[in-house]
Amino acid sequence: MRHRIAVIGAGPGGLALARVLYRHGHPVTVLERDPAPDARPPGGTLDLHEGLGQRALDMAGLLAEFRALSRPEAQAMRILDTDGTVLRDWQPRPDDLANPEIDRGQLRDLLLGPMEVRWGREVTRVVPGAGGGAVVHGADGRQETFDLVVGADGAWSRTRPAVSPVTPQYTGVTTVETSLDEVDTRHPDLARLVGDGSLAVYGVHRKLVAQRNSGGHVKVYAQFRAEPDWHAHLDLADAEAVRASLLALFDGWAPPVLDLLRHGPEFVHRPLYVLPVGHTWTHVPGVTLLGDAAHLMPPLGAGANLALLEGAELAESLATGSEDLDTTVRAFEERMWARAGKWAQITTAGLERLLSPNPATAVALFDGVQPTSGTSPITTT
Ligand SMILES: Cc1cc2nc3c(=O)[nH]c(=O)nc-3n(C[C@H](O)[C@H](O)[C@H](O)COP(=O)(O)OP(=O)(O)OC[C@H]3O[C@@H](n4cnc5c(N)ncnc54)[C@H](O)[C@@H]3O)c2cc1C
Repeated sequence: MRHRIAVIGAGPGGLALARVLYRHGHPVTVLERDPAPDARPPGGTLDLHEGLGQRALDMAGLLAEFRALSRPEAQAMRILDTDGTVLRDWQPRPDDLANPEIDRGQLRDLLLGPMEVRWGREVTRVVPGAGGGAVVHGADGRQETFDLVVGADGAWSRTRPAVSPVTPQYTGVTTVETSLDEVDTRHPDLARLVGDGSLAVYGVHRKLVAQRNSGGHVKVYAQFRAEPDWHAHLDLADAEAVRASLLALFDGWAPPVLDLLRHGPEFVHRPLYVLPVGHTWTHVPGVTLLGDAAHLMPPLGAGANLALLEGAELAESLATGSEDLDTTVRAFEERMWARAGKWAQITTAGLERLLSPNPATAVALFDGVQPTSGTSPITTT
C-alpha cells in the first residue's frame, strides 16, 4: 500500500528520505520553508563518512556522482600552535575516500536532482490524528493530512512538539563565522596556510578553524566559551566591531593566524545548542523525527551524516518493507536512537576536549582518531 508521506524540511535528512523514496517510485511531499533552493547561503563544507553519509548516497544511487563532485584532498588537516608552530600536518593518501568533503550546496543539488519540493511552505505545527496519521498546519493557513509526517526540520523543529516537549539547550560554546573568497588569488598566504583541507588552532577555551570549500572559498570559524549574552555590548551586524572584539579575544595569537579574521566581509553568530544526549520520546503514530530535529548535537562531523543515513534507511524500509507503517517507524526510531545516542556522546565529549583549558587535549584527540585514516569521528568545526 502506498502511504501518504510528508517530509518537513529539505535539508540533508529530508532530501535523503525523499530521494530514496523517489528512487523506489514512492510518492512523497516535501515542504520547505525557504522560498527557493538558493534563498540563503548553503553553509560550509561537509565531510561524508564512508559508513554513514556515503552509505546513504549509495542507497539513493548517487555515490558515483558524489565521488565525482567531492574533494578527497580536503581530508588534509593541519594543527598549529597559537604561536604559529605547525604541530600536525596530515595529508590523505591518494586513494583515501573515507571522509571526502562536499559543499553543502552541491550536496543539496545532488539530492534534489529531478525531485519536486514545495518551496516557501513553512510548517507551523503538526498535530497527530486520533486514529494515526497527522495534520500539517502551514504558515499560509493550509492544512493537509498524511499517513506519516517526518520532521526533518532541524534544530528548531516545528514538528518536534508533536512527539517531545524537549527543546535545545545552550552548550556554553558559541561560534562566529566569516569567510574569504578567491583565497588563492586574493590571499595567497592564507591559501597556503589553510592548504587543501582544514587548519585548526587551539587555545585556552577557544579555537580558530579555517576550512577550504570549493572554488577558492574558505570558511573561518572562531569558537569560544561564552555566556549567551556575551555580545550584549556589540552590534553583530557591525562587521568591524565584531572583528575588533574577536581580535581582542584571540590577542597574542600569531599574526598569520589572526589574518584569517582580518579579511572576512561579515560575521555570522552561531551559538551552539544541543538536545540532551540520548533524547528519545514515546512513539506517536503518524509522526516521527530525524536528523537535528531528533538529536541536535555539537557540530563535529556527525550531524549531516546521521541525517542522511536516517533519511535513506527510513525511506528504504517504507518503500520495501513488509511491516505495517507503524511497526516500520517504531523500528526506525529504535535504530536511530541507538546510533545517534552514541554519536551524541562522542561529539559532546569531543566539544569538551576541543574547548578545554589545556589545548594539548585537542591535539591528543586528533592523534587518537587519526583524521585521515578513515576512522575519525571528529572533524574540525
Ligand atoms: C558550522 C557547522 C559545521 C558542520 N559541519 C558538519 C560536518 O562536517 N559533517 C556533518 O555531518 N555535520 C556537520 N554539521 C551538522 C549538520 O549541519 C547538521 O547536523 C545537518 O545539517 C542536519 O541536517 P537536517 O536535515 O537534520 O537539518 P537541517 O540541515 O537543519 O535542515 C532542516 C531544513 O528544514 C527547513 N525548515 C526548518 N523549519 C521549517 C519549517 N517550520 N517548515 C518547513 N521547513 C523548515 C530548513 O529551512 C532546512 O532546509 C555542521 C554544523 C554546523 C553548524
